[in-house]
Amino acid sequence: LFFVCVASGLDTQAQGINNLDLVIEKKIDSLLSLMTIKEKVGQMTQYNGSFDVTGAPSDIDARTKLEKLKNGEVGSMLNVLTAKATREAQEVVMKNSRLKIPLIFGYDVIHGYKTMFPVPLGESASWDLEALELSAKIAARETAAAGVHWTFAPMIDVSRDARWGRIMEGAGEDPYLNSVIGVARIKGFQGDNLSDDYTIAACAKHFAGYGYAEAGRDYNTVNVGESELQNSILLPFKAASKAGVATFMNSFNEIDGIPATASVHLQRDILKGDWDFKGFMVSDWGSIAELIPHGFAEDKIQAAKLAVVAGSDMDMEGRVYEVAIEQLVSENEIKEELLNDAVRRILRVKYALGLFDNPYKYSDEKREREVLLAPEHLEAARDIARKSIVLLKNEQAILPISKNIKSIAVIGPLADDKDSPLGNWRAQAIKNSAVSVLEGIKNTLSADTQINYAKGASLGIGERSFLMPLKINDTDTSGFADAVAAAKKSEVVILVLGEDAFQSGEGRSQTDIKLKGVQQELLDAVVSVNKNIVLVLMNGRPLDLSRPSDQVPALLETWFLGSEAGNAIADVVFGDYNPSGKLPVSFPRNVGQEPLYYNQKNTGRPSSNMVTYSGYQDESRDALYPFGFGLSYTNFSYGDPEVSDTKFSGEGSIAVSVVLKNTGKVTGKETVQLYIRDLVASRTRPVKELRDFKQIELAPGESSKVTFTINSKTLEFFTSNAKWEAEPGEFEIMIGSNSVDLKTVKITYE
Ligand code: BGC
Repeated sequence: LFFVCVASGLDTQAQGINNLDLVIEKKIDSLLSLMTIKEKVGQMTQYNGSFDVTGAPSDIDARTKLEKLKNGEVGSMLNVLTAKATREAQEVVMKNSRLKIPLIFGYDVIHGYKTMFPVPLGESASWDLEALELSAKIAARETAAAGVHWTFAPMIDVSRDARWGRIMEGAGEDPYLNSVIGVARIKGFQGDNLSDDYTIAACAKHFAGYGYAEAGRDYNTVNVGESELQNSILLPFKAASKAGVATFMNSFNEIDGIPATASVHLQRDILKGDWDFKGFMVSDWGSIAELIPHGFAEDKIQAAKLAVVAGSDMDMEGRVYEVAIEQLVSENEIKEELLNDAVRRILRVKYALGLFDNPYKYSDEKREREVLLAPEHLEAARDIARKSIVLLKNEQAILPISKNIKSIAVIGPLADDKDSPLGNWRAQAIKNSAVSVLEGIKNTLSADTQINYAKGASLGIGERSFLMPLKINDTDTSGFADAVAAAKKSEVVILVLGEDAFQSGEGRSQTDIKLKGVQQELLDAVVSVNKNIVLVLMNGRPLDLSRPSDQVPALLETWFLGSEAGNAIADVVFGDYNPSGKLPVSFPRNVGQEPLYYNQKNTGRPSSNMVTYSGYQDESRDALYPFGFGLSYTNFSYGDPEVSDTKFSGEGSIAVSVVLKNTGKVTGKETVQLYIRDLVASRTRPVKELRDFKQIELAPGESSKVTFTINSKTLEFFTSNAKWEAEPGEFEIMIGSNSVDLKTVKITYE
């Protein structure tokens, strides 16, 4: 028996950027005293993209950029990639600018740089904090080797709406899970010391509320009150700040009438005030300029003023600060101290990364060749990928399939797709470089098994890429006959359906989350000739699986698993890995239930026997597959929870334990989840809230006592006193295998 991983780490000492180094602060003082307003604005300006170092006359924008770099009027660039390109850009600044302040290069490294890990939502299904930290660490190694200092990750937006395409980028619907996973990723990216050679600065985004976009429509308005804001949306950001994340990114949306980018409350009062965050805030792409169409600023001058006052330290490609700030300072519309504060924060991160000691330390082409796609990176990607797979259904134990099987059909538009498993936000992944499911199966089985492959249908998506509108032509059923023939002559069918990689991600909101195109019809056709179907799903959001899950005996949720997808899926299908993933997000029965999440409030109508119950006339209000759910090839039984005491007070604590037993035939790993409910509070609390979990591996017949500590931190929330505190009263402590199957014990906090 061994404990694989324990969720903790929300309450650690000051670390990362929060460890102020007084020597560095002095250096910043003296640098600030030398800087002109223009140079300060330069530090607060981030430009996109590569440029021609020769200043090619054909490209005016490139020439302007080059001049600005030479003059020290740009502090950061994004999307400049490779050791060579970053060296060239850095040289322009270091050789020409007056104060030689190195650039910081940023990039969206969301789930790997070249070696691809599962998309973040998928990887979060592992609930394995060590694995999550490792994947961020490897991504950082590759990113640093490619010359880049800073990733715009992790996204820790609590996301409760399957219609929202960016749900794929975070850790799902739960604030606590987003917190511990966010912290694990930050630790992976930033390591123990930002100045190490293989660490990069992380960025907690999007601050705040982006995942609550009304109707799941990207960038849309958010309306939440302070209680929901603090207890749900901000919880992961508070944890990220405490963990010493170097930067934050604000968000496109407004909350309660104030665009986040111009929110003094969020950025000054909470982040830089209450939480004492020491790093810097970058705007989202052009979000300062977007204050104008929001109807919050009249022009760029006013937009800049609002954003600087609110604490947006760096303008990402909005081209607003560079045209407005000098004028604002000269007219005394903003105080120079505000610029000093922003620049100090930016310089602090540059110093912490060691860029003043060696501005080229990341621009090493030899290292770049050695590190990208290193074999040990791919090995880790396979391991993390298989840990991310969730077994949703397994009737008659159809899975795992014996490797001695005589014939197997592999069918579906995604079955031999070598590109979609790479997911969206794929950084520098090489097109078509993933191991497909078909390849993974071929790698696993011997020549004695007949593999009958048929694509069956296509997703109908032609040429596509990030942010390119998708053209979907999805009516072609001409491949069905081959699929049916393959299914007919095989013992078992592996049917691979879902989404194209680019159907979830930024700007990819959807009103329909059923299987798209002719996929449902393909499933109907296959099921009519062979019922032994293992449905393997690839998708970046919860899908409505109500119909398919009635039709097939086995369902595997595999998200987009990255470079090693097919091998990882084969590991699970043929039993080399016993699935251990748990859903980080509820899967609905119907899109009409969205936003659907387990940690709801009770309402005044708790009894489902009433006609006037807060439910639906035409559908249950429960999830089809709830948060925290995931099966194993073995079974686990839970004893009744026992408490060391039924009461505690103040800073005391009690222990709650359950006996977990592996009652099945194979070794397996279970994620034991602990939820709480505050029965009566000064602001109503959810009926369940995840507060802790532990992963335990047990051999067949083995049992183990799993113990959790409950203290005031476990019970606290942002109360009506506007404080984080535990209120005296009764609490339910619930322990179990998912957010529905729980055993309860009551305690009192005095
Ligand atoms: C996204 C950010 C991203 C930025 C830079 C924006 O559109 O919202 O998450 O970091 O682009 O690529």
